[in-house]
Amino acid sequence: MVALFAAVATYALESEHFVIYSDDSKLAEYLEEAYSFYVDKGLKPAPPCQESKYPVYVDASSPYAGSTEIGNRCIIRIVFREYTRRLVYHEVAHVFFEYYKHYMQDLWVDEAVPEAMASVATGAYDFPKKYFQERLHGVNPFALGSDRLHDWYKYSAPVAWYLERAGNWADVLTAFRRVKAPRRFT
Ligand SMILES: [Zn+2]
Repeated sequence: MVALFAAVATYALESEHFVIYSDDSKLAEYLEEAYSFYVDKGLKPAPPCQESKYPVYVDASSPYAGSTEIGNRCIIRIVFREYTRRLVYHEVAHVFFEYYKHYMQDLWVDEAVPEAMASVATGAYDFPKKYFQERLHGVNPFALGSDRLHDWYKYSAPVAWYLERAGNWADVLTAFRRVKAPRRFT
């Protein structure tokens, strides 16, 4: 897979933290802009799995508009079929959230948190309306399985509310780690 990508890549644009396999300086600009935004919020990124920078590909045949492939606590690569500034912020949010994630974490958090980070960062809120229209405030997200992937994003609404009010985002992101309830009465 990597060899295939390398073969099609005719041009690599290197920015401070990313290697972009496309001649697209706008994409490079958005990636670095998002990166420094999250650093300014007190966050640390998960490292690239190989090399010292994050590989970013533009692949017209990718099944997703944007995707971040995650390895063992590290980032394999980011792939865009197409991108907007907001989508770039979403994928870079995955890079940072991975640092704070816990493997026992609930599924919905995987997309709700990066989506909330991107919404607050760019001021483009897509999901609060759906969250309220569909009355999701009455539905416990902890029970949502992988078949409800589309709903995970909508729970970015309440997460964004917290992020907007937090100076340091690390505290909010860490709060999503699932902890064992203390057994107080034994
Ligand atoms: Zn995502």
